[in-house]
Amino acid sequence: MRLHEYQAKEVFAEAGIPVPDAELARTVEEAVAAAEEIGYPVAIKAQVHVGGRGKAGGIELVENETEAREAADRILGMDLKGFHVDRVLVEDAVNFVNEVYVGVTMDRGVGRPVAMVSSRGGVNIEEVAEEDPDAIAREHIDPAFGMHDFQARKAVYDAGLDRDVAGDVASILTTLYDLWEERDGADAEINPLMVTADDEVIAADAVFNIDGDALFRQPDLAELEDEAAEDDLEAKANEYGFDYVRLDGNVGIIGNGAGLVMTTLDLVDYYGGAPANFLDIGGGAKAERVANALDMVFSDENVDAVVFNIFGGITRGDEVANGINSALEQFDDIPKPVIVRLAGTKAEEGMEILNTDLVQVEATLEDAVQAAVAAAEEVDS
Ligand code: GDP
Ligand code: MN
Repeated sequence: MRLHEYQAKEVFAEAGIPVPDAELARTVEEAVAAAEEIGYPVAIKAQVHVGGRGKAGGIELVENETEAREAADRILGMDLKGFHVDRVLVEDAVNFVNEVYVGVTMDRGVGRPVAMVSSRGGVNIEEVAEEDPDAIAREHIDPAFGMHDFQARKAVYDAGLDRDVAGDVASILTTLYDLWEERDGADAEINPLMVTADDEVIAADAVFNIDGDALFRQPDLAELEDEAAEDDLEAKANEYGFDYVRLDGNVGIIGNGAGLVMTTLDLVDYYGGAPANFLDIGGGAKAERVANALDMVFSDENVDAVVFNIFGGITRGDEVANGINSALEQFDDIPKPVIVRLAGTKAEEGMEILNTDLVQVEATLEDAVQAAVAAAEEVDS
């Protein structure tokens, strides 16, 4: 579960991490009033659950009332990477000389939490990790002991931070780790942690994602959940009881079983396409689940073609084929091409049943994926 920046900052501030003066606003008038109260310059920041708001035009620094009004008017109501902006954080603009990154997450490869520090804050940290992994200092933490002071100091030292701010950054990192642990964090991140000319450090951005399975023991955080801000499709997937992850591409993928779906994702990528989603309809999928899965991928406007990869075990090919037929028969016009590969239990019967006026049937997974990638490309061009 994600918190908005302003919510995360409240949690961080309560734990003693310095944050700028700020006020939340839902209207232009509220934003201007907040700016006047805080004093110019202020940053006006869209509160939506996406990163990279700066680059996408969701953050503006303003110097006076006219600019504040214009910026608030433009940002409130805007569509930011598919999310509707209905509130902004109006925040005292920080005059910084450096931007630092600090974060805590679970390192699943190592099986331990990891605390990270980088002197290359302010930019997309995933890009830094890819270009120059050594620019991020990492300390793995033994959760039985928590983060030792020497570990925080070592991470800050390894990141090459200025001596004058090292103590403050180390203490913020420790606080962030403690919060992550006590509040069942999934990811906690401050990027940028701004350093001012007088060596003050202040959290200019805040990310705090909470482990959804732990919300029952974090009732005050659970209350902050903003269902309206949830991705519509993810909400739908929850309702249908699917394992679903939205991705950036345009090839919709439906399969039964996580490994099978992952393989399909890899193959789409291998054949030069880009997966639009991970969608596992689970074992023993009946016709209704199949229809619901199609509803999901069809309502994703990024999807240009759909590939079904079904391996029958408990799931029977004939059931799935009936599900696909009945779901598609409801359309006068099939909105996107659907390519199906069936294998395993009752696959042959299934392929007989599939209505080839509605779907394209392929005998192998490779053929099905290639056909879907080609169909998606065709729609795209
Ligand atoms: P994100 O793009 O969604 O991660 O939003 P951030 O809050 O990290 O802001 C992106 C960038 O906007 C920062 O790295 C800064 O360069 C700039 N920015 C944000 N807040 C302030 C501020 O208070 N003062 C100044 N000068 N720049 C800011
Ligand atoms: Mn940021």
